[in-house]
Amino acid sequence: MDDVIIIGGSFAGLAAALQLGRARRKVTVLDTGLPRNRFAGHSHGLLGHDHKPPQDILAAARQQLVRYPTVRLVNARADSVSGAIDHFSVRTGDGESLGARRLILSYGVADQMPDVPGFAESWGTSIVPCPYCDGFEVAGRHWGVLWSSPQSHQSVKLFQHWTDKLTIFADGHDIAPDIQADLAHRNVPVIEGRIVEIAHHEGHITTVNLDTRRNIAVDVLFAHPRNKPSASLHESLGLATVDTPTGIVLKVDERRQTSVPGIYAAGDLATPFLPSVTQASSQGAMAGIFAQQSMLV
Ligand SMILES: Cc1cc2nc3c(=O)[nH]c(=O)nc-3n(C[C@H](O)[C@H](O)[C@H](O)COP(=O)(O)OP(=O)(O)OC[C@H]3O[C@@H](n4cnc5c(N)ncnc54)[C@H](O)[C@@H]3O)c2cc1C
Repeated sequence: MDDVIIIGGSFAGLAAALQLGRARRKVTVLDTGLPRNRFAGHSHGLLGHDHKPPQDILAAARQQLVRYPTVRLVNARADSVSGAIDHFSVRTGDGESLGARRLILSYGVADQMPDVPGFAESWGTSIVPCPYCDGFEVAGRHWGVLWSSPQSHQSVKLFQHWTDKLTIFADGHDIAPDIQADLAHRNVPVIEGRIVEIAHHEGHITTVNLDTRRNIAVDVLFAHPRNKPSASLHESLGLATVDTPTGIVLKVDERRQTSVPGIYAAGDLATPFLPSVTQASSQGAMAGIFAQQSMLV
């Protein structure tokens, strides 16, 4: 039996495994190799790893874990989970049955692409979610903002720090008159109509095409599609969740324990606000440490 099984071996899961390996705990990490930022050419903002391809950062982390003989990295999907603290069982897609005293869930979230031709193809290249991740490289260029909620108004104020060329795409949303007035005051045009296509060349946007027959050229489009957890294991475990503007995340306490004793969560799966590689790594490390400490006698 393992001390801990970690489900999801990306930034959060590997950071947890590192702490547990260093604490000489027996750990299995299950991973299917699909980190959320796999569509991006470079990852930004992680100290010491800025502007590196995400897969290179993960490959280096996996290589460093080879030093720890109690850590086992397994390329497999966790299909089902059952049991309770000190006696959890995990069944993998390969039919393997594993047991552990603690679980760390770090299987991330999956972004749900809207049914608009060209959107998915441009995701991570010229349609991006976060200015801290990708804003610096396109500062001063023409940014489109896909309106999703009144919170998009805050995004406009934020984005004006990077560029003064912003265009809002309302995409069917009614924007309140006071917000419209503020946008006009800021010289930010609002384009009405539904987006029907993202015209692009190998993921680089040329125009945002609307059902009003207008095609608007932008260099980059910031968007927050809805997302959902990458697996449904938390549902069968009955874990409490909290709502976010774009989906749900697992509820955790200050020691990263979920609503069920012995189950911890880290990374985007349990980050309600500003998810990032840095947050995932930090939370993963803390989940590993707190899971380890919970097993002390
Ligand atoms: C386009 C884009 C660009 C981004 N750029 C940046 C950036 O520049 N800087 C930054 O800090 N953040 C960036 N992010 C955010 C960053 O990708 C996430 O915050 C980070 O990946 C979260 O790490 P995680 O370990 O929580 O989850 P993930 O990295 O999503 O990893 C989850 C892992 O779990 C695995 N998994 C899923 N289900 C199962 C299962 N049932 N069994 C086993 N394994 C499973 C997946 O295959 C995956 O490997 C970007 C996001 C996007 C979408």
